[in-house]
Amino acid sequence: MADPIGYISTRSDGSDEPLGFGDVLLAGLAPDGGLYCPVEIPALPDGITADTPYVEAAVAILEPFTAGTFDADDLATMAAEAYRSFRHPDVCPVVELGPDRHLLDLTRGPTLAFKDVALQMVGRMLERELARRGRRVTIVGATSGDTGSAAIESLADKTGIEVLILHPHERVSEIQRRQMTTVAAPNIHNVAIRGTFDDCQDLVKASFADQGLRHDVGLAAVNSINWARVVCQIVYYVTSARAVRPDGGPVSFSVPSGNFGNVLSGWYAKRMGLAVDKLIVASNRNDVLTRYFETGRLETRAVEPSLSPSMDIQISSNFERALWEASGRDGRAVAELLGELRASGSVEVPEAWRARLDADFVGARLDDDGTIDTIADTHARSERIVDPHTAVGLAAAEALVEPGTPMVTLSTADPAKFPDAVERAIGIRPTLPPHAAEILTRPERYEVVDNDLGTIVERLRAIGG
Ligand SMILES: *Cc1c(COP(=O)(O)O)cnc(C)c1O
Repeated sequence: MADPIGYISTRSDGSDEPLGFGDVLLAGLAPDGGLYCPVEIPALPDGITADTPYVEAAVAILEPFTAGTFDADDLATMAAEAYRSFRHPDVCPVVELGPDRHLLDLTRGPTLAFKDVALQMVGRMLERELARRGRRVTIVGATSGDTGSAAIESLADKTGIEVLILHPHERVSEIQRRQMTTVAAPNIHNVAIRGTFDDCQDLVKASFADQGLRHDVGLAAVNSINWARVVCQIVYYVTSARAVRPDGGPVSFSVPSGNFGNVLSGWYAKRMGLAVDKLIVASNRNDVLTRYFETGRLETRAVEPSLSPSMDIQISSNFERALWEASGRDGRAVAELLGELRASGSVEVPEAWRARLDADFVGARLDDDGTIDTIADTHARSERIVDPHTAVGLAAAEALVEPGTPMVTLSTADPAKFPDAVERAIGIRPTLPPHAAEILTRPERYEVVDNDLGTIVERLRAIGG
């Protein structure tokens, strides 16, 4: 068997040894502030067809990435359990909307959003790897709404794991908040920060930079910077491409994007050999990535609330992985570029890197009015009710679809998670599926605090000490 794939940081100067999958799973962010990436990108396994069951495809795709930590049997056990909680036999079904137009439904997991697909798997990976090492961890994560609930749902009552999730106070929907704060498991802790999602994310990054804390409480992450999430998401790009193009011909994807984690997985699928034409990075009015694709400059602005709050982000952390590859894996240059972005709020991406990124990605944006119109149009044409995030992807898909190349839009949330926007668009208030509705009456448990690192460090020491 080939040697296991190693992982290095996007800010590495080349002097550090590659880590194994299990190390990267537990570490989250690298000590130098970078994100771990695979040194080798394996070829797509043979034999995945439109008829391959999702769990089987997942095992085949993940195995080379996890070798040395989890073998095919481990993966099969975890994937079977993880995807049993999904309310559809295909796990991530594909629906035809019209000629060359398809919807990949990623909303059938326990929290009704796409993050369940990765996190139901990652929670199990974490528990298994910790047990193997006889260790405990404290998970800290920032959420703009959906990561938090998906992480909590995947980690509640898991042995050896404490969880602290930060969300921006009054900037997540009531249902998103309740999905997090009504979980009664004693290892789950919720904190609302008076600030934005980016403030929450900065607090998480600063906690990781505190080496003493990191060591004392065994800090770990499951938010979208964790490589294990990115790798689990590769699977549905492959299965949906096979579903709409059994002949293996090219497919395009439109991906409602915030932190760039989801669309990045599509890019890895392409690098593994999947025939992908366009990868559309669809944003709402918080359009740092769209502006980058238009101007070649990364420029952060203040976050503005929108109808698609899970995409209200101005620092797309996972974009660093694409930048690193585009730079020819020049960790020093990436660290320098991002340092300048942080210091001045704006930086020009070198021409050679831009050319490589432009070969794979297209940027698109949609404002709130366009989002409402798209929800209404989609309903009028197909009777399908879509959530505001999915609508952002659908509008971009409609603008960029080309005859003969199927366009798959990723549906990232159930409309019932965002009932106000949907009601405004079509006059119908979508209701939660029965199994999810009990969160509306269960008691909530969370604390509201200022945007202050000291407070967060104190909480982490209390729960993880
Ligand atoms: C997280 C999320 C997104 C954005 O995904 P990224 O991986 O952060 O780009 C889009 N839609 C919904 C519903 C989400 O929860």
